[in-house]
Amino acid sequence: MKEANSNPTIIGTKCQDCGFQITENVPRCIQCGSEKIQKIEYEGSGTIYTYTVVHVGFGHMAARAPYVLALVELREGVKALGILEGSAKESKITESVSIGLEVRLQKIDSEIGYFFRPV
Ligand SMILES: [Zn+2]
Repeated sequence: MKEANSNPTIIGTKCQDCGFQITENVPRCIQCGSEKIQKIEYEGSGTIYTYTVVHVGFGHMAARAPYVLALVELREGVKALGILEGSAKESKITESVSIGLEVRLQKIDSEIGYFFRPV
């Protein structure tokens, strides 16, 4: 994963044999097993595909609860799991999050992963 910066992007993997894409760095295609893979960069914009509000976090996530764990469908058509922060419609994100909400990658935490914010 890249270090957090002001304009982060997601580096994923694309299979050259079957076209499968994933927003993670993997040594071979998890769909067909091919090693003919390439890195692919996703711009980080998308919409909420589905989400859950987590009220009891585990481990280092416990202090963060309640928080929104969201599956974001990126503009490129690939889905990425991340935490949604910020607010929408002037209320807390745990109350205002909705499917289809437009979000943008905000930062990448080396332990937790992707953080998104409403745009
Ligand atoms: Zn493949």
